[in-house]
Amino acid sequence: MSDWVVMKFGGTSVTGIKNWKNILSIIQSRLQEGERLFIVCSAISKISDQLERLASAVRSGRSYDDALNNLIEIHKAQAIDMGLDPNVVVGDIFDDLRKLLRGASLIQEVSPRLWARILSAGELMSTKIGAAWLQKIGLNVGWLDARKILKTVQKENFASAVCDSSIDIELQQQLAEKSQSVWITQGFIGANQTGQTVLLGRGGSDTSGAYFAAKLQAKRLEIWTDVPGLFTANPKLIPSARLLTKLDYDEAQEMATSGAKALHPRCIAPLRQQKIPLWIRSTLAPDLVGTEINSKNESTPGIKGISYRKGIMLISMETVGMWQQVGFLADIFTVFKNHDLSVDLITTSEANVTVSLDAAANDLQANTLDAVLSELSHFCKPKLIGPAASISLVGRQIRSILHRLGPIFERFADHKVHLLSQAASDLNLTFVVEESQAEGLVRNLHQKLFSQVEPHLGPSWQKLFEQPVPHEPPWWLSQRQALLNIAANSTPVFVYSKDVLIKRANELTNLNNVSRVFFATKANSHPRILQLFYELGLGFECVSPQELDHVINVLGPLPAERLLYTPNFAPKSEYEHGFAVGATVTLDSLFPL
Ligand code: ASP
Ligand code: MG
Repeated sequence: MSDWVVMKFGGTSVTGIKNWKNILSIIQSRLQEGERLFIVCSAISKISDQLERLASAVRSGRSYDDALNNLIEIHKAQAIDMGLDPNVVVGDIFDDLRKLLRGASLIQEVSPRLWARILSAGELMSTKIGAAWLQKIGLNVGWLDARKILKTVQKENFASAVCDSSIDIELQQQLAEKSQSVWITQGFIGANQTGQTVLLGRGGSDTSGAYFAAKLQAKRLEIWTDVPGLFTANPKLIPSARLLTKLDYDEAQEMATSGAKALHPRCIAPLRQQKIPLWIRSTLAPDLVGTEINSKNESTPGIKGISYRKGIMLISMETVGMWQQVGFLADIFTVFKNHDLSVDLITTSEANVTVSLDAAANDLQANTLDAVLSELSHFCKPKLIGPAASISLVGRQIRSILHRLGPIFERFADHKVHLLSQAASDLNLTFVVEESQAEGLVRNLHQKLFSQVEPHLGPSWQKLFEQPVPHEPPWWLSQRQALLNIAANSTPVFVYSKDVLIKRANELTNLNNVSRVFFATKANSHPRILQLFYELGLGFECVSPQELDHVINVLGPLPAERLLYTPNFAPKSEYEHGFAVGATVTLDSLFPL
């Protein structure tokens, strides 16, 4: 082990001066602890996406000038914000990018090699800007070209290359001879044996961090990102998801491959090899605890997380000929191989083999799938099922939760579980369901499986980030005496606050995802209230002919989109009345028809 700490900062972390100030204070606190820092950065947020779009625009002969200018402007603005001269710091990369794109647009072709060079500009620019800023502040920082250090192990892979992660004594010596105690380099990019730029796959900067940590025999890798770590489920979907404070390498690997976006799947292996601990932290909230991944089996057995992936296609293959037959599986898998398709999950019985194909890893175009099905039909009766989603439950000794799944699946009895697979490692239980069912099922599973107080889990996302709701005093408190005076003369008296009604109505009409808001007339039919809500743009929902008449008496005839009639168990005449006054009528069962 050396005294290096490798720190990777993701796209959000390197965007804007505010985040760079956080990076600076993280660097300073590590330096005070006597560490030497090797920093790996992603491109500025969304830039890799923009570069991909530029490259594909060029490839299809579309114009790309505006998009290129926009991308250059983003970098210029960030440099200027940080007190740097963009042309001095990144002007040469702008020029290279312009030249590459112009050349490619002339021949309307973007080879994988060129694609990689275009995308590498993102990380080159973000690290140049970051290094220049840290130097300006007075840190002794060196900038390195990652392509001089990370070399691929295979030949022809420009988009998602695997690099050599063996201990690099030469690099360690080179850095030891230099005065800098902070180095900064690019994530996501490396080079092949002939020095050509390659990419490590989207999201691959995590893996760059792991490679450098392994090469330097670092004390640890820290991944600084926009979330404070891995959670029991996607916190955007499930705010009650709990932070996983401790995981072992195997669990983290399973979570990353089964859909947890916070970690690139390839980044665990190089760390595990040398038992280098991995911390995940948030640059946006550097003081939060985060996740620690290491080999010490400190983590408790049992379920740790639920993740899911959409866009899964299944191919189910019925066969009668497999029983005690040799080579059947070899034949069918050859078909997938010949079409460059990578298979994820497999279940087999004597009469059926089902495999899953992930749209994120495969080019699942209709004609490819048709060709595969027709070739498979020589060996079996294939059937395509999808789009589906795979849901994975991850944790050591995952089998121990099987008995808790029954009640959850009962609710989903109408929906098919297409495939269920449990790895022999007892780390992962995955099932594939119809895509539209996935999120509901994940929510349900999370609620049931993490409902107990589990002390080995960290705080929930909600707890970490929710602002406490300021406690507003009730509206009547400030007018208490005036209200009591009114009540003294006439009692009982009903009082409503116009301000509160306006506020609540506006909250509802301002919801982006709700296009129309109706007031349930039965809640309060006071003419002034109806009038107020009418002026605020609400519609009126009525459940009886009397309510309809009342609303129309107060407000005059309303257009159908503002008058909704929802009768239950009503006679025919009441429906007729609804239509006669021009309301939109809800039918809540078939018998009226
Ligand atoms: N910038 C690259 C991407 O967005 C790599 C990374 O950020 O990890 O995929
Ligand atoms: Mg990432």
